[in-house]
Amino acid sequence: MNDTNPFPIPQNETWYILDSTKIQEFMECPRKYMKMRLLGWTPIAPNLHLTFGSAHHDAMEYLLINGIQKESLKGAIDAFLKTYYEKLTKIVNPDGRPIPSEFMLVLLDSMIEQGDINLREFYSASLKYYQVYYKEYKDKVNRPKSPGDAILALTHYILNHEHESSEREVLHTEVSGTVPIDDERVLHFRIDAILKDVLGIFIQEHKTLSRKDNKWINKWHLKTQIGTYLHVLHMMFPEGSIKGLEVNGMCLYTNEVLTGDSPHGKQEVIRVPISKSKELMAAWLWNVRHWYDLIDWNMERLKEASPDDDILSCFPMNTENCDSYFGCMFEPYCRLWPNPLKHCIEPPPGFKVDWWNPADREKTASKVVHLEKGENDDTT
Ligand code: SF4
Repeated sequence: MNDTNPFPIPQNETWYILDSTKIQEFMECPRKYMKMRLLGWTPIAPNLHLTFGSAHHDAMEYLLINGIQKESLKGAIDAFLKTYYEKLTKIVNPDGRPIPSEFMLVLLDSMIEQGDINLREFYSASLKYYQVYYKEYKDKVNRPKSPGDAILALTHYILNHEHESSEREVLHTEVSGTVPIDDERVLHFRIDAILKDVLGIFIQEHKTLSRKDNKWINKWHLKTQIGTYLHVLHMMFPEGSIKGLEVNGMCLYTNEVLTGDSPHGKQEVIRVPISKSKELMAAWLWNVRHWYDLIDWNMERLKEASPDDDILSCFPMNTENCDSYFGCMFEPYCRLWPNPLKHCIEPPPGFKVDWWNPADREKTASKVVHLEKGENDDTT
């Protein structure tokens, strides 16, 4: 602590920029939140699942803007690969044989050159390539989050959802900004798309998954993020015009048989429609304010903490979450450190300092609104 910084660790401007993701992280485990968002500790290795999700999101945005049609497939693939290879290294076959995504691109280019894109033929030929060469190609280590899987998924999406281009009007893609939760506090947000059909205006949120089950389908209804997006929608558009939100899930299966009818596996679009009554939105609002209060409370306690303390008496450890998903990345350190302030001058091995700033997304958004200031020129 010094005269200008009341905290025992250096402050960062991102501490005070909260979005649904940060609140959800705090809900999962306040100690994890502290390490990720107050110390800025981030794994050095790129995250395949997050990178694939971002790349898929960019491809879906391309399809929304340019139409869900066969002529958009090449552009959507290019958008996907650009984002994917910004973070991940391309895996090639040592014998020079094209990896599946390269084979697919050559095939698609030749169809485009001949002026005859036959998506069903393209899909079948791509599957055949997988079937014959599956054992030999190297980028299967990333399945089902590989470029080849993504191209098949985009092809599948166009084949099955082409009709939506004429049924759904795209009002916005990439909407970012801030929404108030009371007179003083805001949440930052970034919405994938706002669409309109005969039943009204709705948000479309793109997700990817590799196993379909009820747990995945049911988890969205109560998520803080989904409530935030609906709150934004209610502040942007008249009450009677709103339909709700649609989770647009793309399931890429890993363990389907690699021989027989389904050599590569399969893809499936899973849509989860969500709408909330006024009362349910009021419950969401109370909840989100309460968790925001708890973050503020812990920030105040952090001011009183010191590296000399035996234990850290704020940002408690939620020890029921240490084994969720693949296990918490901070587990070895929580096991050893009763007070992480004694060990936080540098990030631990395998981590770097990287600050997540939700407001940065405004720089690349197609539309930015600060709803607490009454900014909203949407008259739809
Ligand atoms: S290991 Fe457990 S207690 Fe520690 S940060 Fe992770 S979830 Fe929290």
